Amino acid sequence: MKNIKLFIFNFFFAPLWLGCMCILFMSGCVPAPYRRVPHPDISRYVNVVEFCNRNNLIWEWDVISQKFTIRSPEHEAVFFINSNTALINNQPTTLKLPLIYKSGALFISKDAVQVFLIPALVPSAVHRIRRIVIDAGHGGHDPGAVHFGIHEDDINLSIARHLEKELLSNGIEVIMTRKTDVFVPLSQRVRIANTSGADIFVSIHCNACRGRRRTRPKGFEVFSLGGPMDEESRLKEAVERGRLKYEGGISENVGLNIRALLWDIIQDENKIESKQLSQLIVSSLDRSLATPNRGSKTARFYVLKWTHIPSVLVEVGFLSNRWEASKLANTHYQKMVAESIADGILRFKELYEKTDGFSRQASHRRF
Ligand SMILES: [Zn+2]
Repeated sequence: MKNIKLFIFNFFFAPLWLGCMCILFMSGCVPAPYRRVPHPDISRYVNVVEFCNRNNLIWEWDVISQKFTIRSPEHEAVFFINSNTALINNQPTTLKLPLIYKSGALFISKDAVQVFLIPALVPSAVHRIRRIVIDAGHGGHDPGAVHFGIHEDDINLSIARHLEKELLSNGIEVIMTRKTDVFVPLSQRVRIANTSGADIFVSIHCNACRGRRRTRPKGFEVFSLGGPMDEESRLKEAVERGRLKYEGGISENVGLNIRALLWDIIQDENKIESKQLSQLIVSSLDRSLATPNRGSKTARFYVLKWTHIPSVLVEVGFLSNRWEASKLANTHYQKMVAESIADGILRFKELYEKTDGFSRQASHRRF
């Protein structure tokens, strides 16, 4: 009888028990810290995984010991969740604020990044432009502006592909948000920019004007994030908001709003770089295109607002203007536009790398 009971236990319960143990061990892959800081001031933190990915640092999260390790080729920093003690290159160090877990992510204080992480782990090569995201606006069931039978999404894609070739031939890695005529939601474009370890985001669009005088305006303009906006930029943003509703991006916005404060801080750091990139592209386009230069402007477009790397949106010309529309539909002209944008990017890369991310020059220099 005793043997039968033992047999039943072994046959039915032992596998169950083993299964439970397996699940327990497997949960080691999921970050689920046992303690949380109730209300940390998130404005003083940055997402540590995003920081590592952006700076090409290897990271490792050990859920059992609640330990986050960051490695560069020669150095190592170890942080413990909710602990003010860290090991920087094996030296115990006291942090002002501990590593914390919030909303499914791990955050490290900006202070720890500035004082310990950057000096200890990030080599001077951090100020390099290696990878660029090219975003061909619209696509699929969203053609963008349509005038004289010309679809904006086709022109955007063609210029983006030429730009891709140009950058690749200059040794820059390129990530395209779309390579064919498909619809990609704005939130997805932003996600690609933020998770691909890219250094710059460049969105390509064609302009269009509404109203009775729509055929008049022509020329190119380049936008970066910021304000104040002129009436025209405000109008463009309103049109984009309408499109966001259409593609169901509003619910995504709610999730993103949780991190709005953090984005604002990151964006402040990128605003100057974005503006400089925008001005350099404008100068390049101005040198090669025989169309009005409408300048470097600011707006709060979705792709500029939510990307956390220097980002610009290039409006290459007006499709509502017959003269410019026919030029934009021409492959040779598209190639020329792409080459000019690439030239602006390469000038930015050169200057950015020469000045260690503009840290060795006045930040408001104009080009
Ligand atoms: Zn567009």
